[in-house]
Amino acid sequence: MVRVPWQIPRRALRRLLAVGADPDSASTVVTAAPPVPPREVFRRFWPYTRGRRPWLVPLVLFSLVGPLVDAGELWLFKIVVDDVLVPRDLRPFVWIAPTYLALVVGSGVLGFADDMTSTWVGERFLLALRSDVFRHVQGLSLGFFERRRLGDVLSRVTGDVDSVETFMLSGVADGLYHLVRLGVFLGLLFYLRWDLTLLALAIVPLFWRSARHFSRLIKEASRERRRRSGSLSAVAEESLGNVVLVQAYNRQDWEERRFERESLGTFHATMASTRIHAVYGSLVEVIEVAGGLAVMGLGTWKLAQGQLTLGGLLVFLALIGKLYSPIRGLSHLGNTFYAASASAERIIELLDQRPQVTEAPDARRIGRARGAVEFDGVSFRYPGTARRALSDVSFHVAPGEVLALVGASGAGKSTAAKLLLRFYDPDRGALRLDGTDLRSLRVCDVRENVAVVLQETFVFQGTVRENIAYGRPGASEAEIVAAARAADAHEFIQRLPAGYDTVVGQRGRTLSGGQRQRLAIARAMIRDAPVLLLDEPTTSLDAPSGLKIMEPLRRLMAGRATVVISHDLLTVRDATRIVVLDGGRLAESGTHDELLARDGAYARLHRLGAATGHPERMPTTRPGTVLS
Ligand code: ATP
Repeated sequence: MVRVPWQIPRRALRRLLAVGADPDSASTVVTAAPPVPPREVFRRFWPYTRGRRPWLVPLVLFSLVGPLVDAGELWLFKIVVDDVLVPRDLRPFVWIAPTYLALVVGSGVLGFADDMTSTWVGERFLLALRSDVFRHVQGLSLGFFERRRLGDVLSRVTGDVDSVETFMLSGVADGLYHLVRLGVFLGLLFYLRWDLTLLALAIVPLFWRSARHFSRLIKEASRERRRRSGSLSAVAEESLGNVVLVQAYNRQDWEERRFERESLGTFHATMASTRIHAVYGSLVEVIEVAGGLAVMGLGTWKLAQGQLTLGGLLVFLALIGKLYSPIRGLSHLGNTFYAASASAERIIELLDQRPQVTEAPDARRIGRARGAVEFDGVSFRYPGTARRALSDVSFHVAPGEVLALVGASGAGKSTAAKLLLRFYDPDRGALRLDGTDLRSLRVCDVRENVAVVLQETFVFQGTVRENIAYGRPGASEAEIVAAARAADAHEFIQRLPAGYDTVVGQRGRTLSGGQRQRLAIARAMIRDAPVLLLDEPTTSLDAPSGLKIMEPLRRLMAGRATVVISHDLLTVRDATRIVVLDGGRLAESGTHDELLARDGAYARLHRLGAATGHPERMPTTRPGTVLS
C-alpha cells in the first residue's frame, strides 16, 4: 500500500511525543498530584503577593515602556536608511545618533530597574510561600510523615515552590510584556502597510493551534518530570539517611540500582519533555519563516512597483520579526504556565493536607500543669488499619509517680506515648492532664508540659550547649551547666575538645550512645516539664552504661509524673505502678511484687527475661523505636 507522505509522520510523531514511554513509568515511588485548573492555582497563590502589590504597578509600566523604546529604535533605523543611506546625506545623522544613543541608554536603565524590581518582587513572593509551605508541613501530624516519602516532601518544598513564582508573577509579567509589544508592533505595521500586515497575520491561527495542541503534551510531560524528581529525592533521602544500615548489610549495589532506576525515570521524563519542546520549537520556526517569506515576496513586489521605500521594507521585515517574537512568546508562555502548574499542583496537594490533630478554636491555654496524667477508656486505631492499636486502656499517673508501660512488641506502648504527646487523638475515651481533656487544650501547651527522652536520641548539628538548650530556648549558661551536671554529662563535656562549644556532628555521630543519652537527659532536665515520657531510655546501652544512666534518670524523674516504656527491669521494678499491655488491651497492672505474686502476663515476661540469661531485661522482639 502506498502511504500518503503526511500519514507517515503521524505514527512516528505520536511515538516521538509519548510521555512516560519508559518501561518503569508505572513503578515509581511517588504518585502524581491531582490536576488543578489554572484559575484555582491563581486563587490559591495570589494572597502571597500581599504587601508587594504596589510594586506590580512599576512592573506593568516597565512592560509598557519597553516595547515603545524598541519601536522608537526601529523607527530611527528606517529614517537612517531612507534619509541618510539612500540619499547619502549625513546631515540628519547629527540628531539621529544622539537620539539613538539616548534611547539605548534609556532602555538600559529601564531594563536594570525592571530586572531588579521583578526579581525583588518574585523572590519576596517565594520567601513568603516557601516559609508558609514549610510552616504548614511542620504543623502536619505525625501520621502524614509516617505515610509520606520525606524526599518527595523535600523536593516539593525546595523545587516545586520556585515554579509557582513563574506561574504567578514572572509568567504574568512576561505575558503582559508580550501583549504590549504585540499591540505596539501591530499598530506600527498597520500604519506602515495594512495589506502586508494582514498577510503576516495569516499565520497566527497556525501558531495558536499548535500551541494548544502542544500545551496538553507539555503539561503531561511536566507532571511526569516533577513526579520523577520527587521519587528521585525520596530514594536518595532514604538510602543516604540509612547509610549505616546500607553499608553494614552491603546493600550499596541494591541501593545504587534503586537510585539508577529512578534516575532513569527522570532521564526518560526529561527526554520526553525535550522532544516535545524541540518538535514544537521547530514547528513554530517553520510557521514563522513561511510567514516572513510571504511578506518578503509581496514586499519586494511592492518595492519594484515603487509603492514602498527600501527603508520601509527593511523596517517592515524587522517589525515582522519583532511581531512574531511576542506571538511566539505568548504561545511559549502558555506552555511555561502549564509546566509551572504541574509544580503548583504538587504544592497545593501538600497545602491541602490537614493535620489529623486539630486545635479547638476555643482551646484553653495552660501554664505549667501539676502533671497528673490520665488515660480514660482510650481506644485508637491508626488511619487505614483494620486493628486497634489500643483498646479501652485506662490508667493514671500522679505527680511524683512512675508508671511503667510494659508488654511484648506491638502491644501498643509507643502508641500510648504518641497519644500522650497528642501526635494523634484517641477514637474513643480521653487523655487528661490535670483532669482536663487534652483535646480542649492548646497542642503546644500540652507538649510544653511533657519532656521526652527517647531510645534513639536526637542530636543536632551544633554545639553541645545548643543541643542542651534545645529543651528550653533562652536557658542561661548556669542552667545549662546545672542540667548537664544533673545528667552526669558535665564531666565528659568538659573533656571534649572545646567543652560546651564542641560541635557534635549531625545526629551526634561523634558521641557515644551513653553520651548522647546523657545529653538527652540534660535536655529534658532543662525543659523541667511536670510530665516525663521515657521511651526505652536504656535499650541502646549495654548493661554497665544502662546502670550508669539510671542515677541521672532517677534525678530527672524526681517530683514528676513519669511514664516509662521499658523492657529494662531496673527501670520497671521501682515504678509506682506497672501497666502490662497485651495486643492493645490492658492485661494487668500493679507493683512489681504484686504482679509477680499474681503470676500473670508480667510474671511470664519476667521469667522469659530470666530464661534469656538477661534477668535485668524483659524480652522484646523489637525495641520501641516508633516514636524515635
Ligand atoms: P515495641 O515494643 O516494639 O515498640 P509497641 O508496644 O510500642 O511495640 P506500637 O508501636 O505502639 O507497639 O504498635 C502497636 C500496633 O500499632 C502494632 O500492631 C503496630 O504494627 C501498629 N502501628 C504502629 N505504628 C503504626 C503506624 N504509624 N501506622 C499503622 N500502624 C501502626
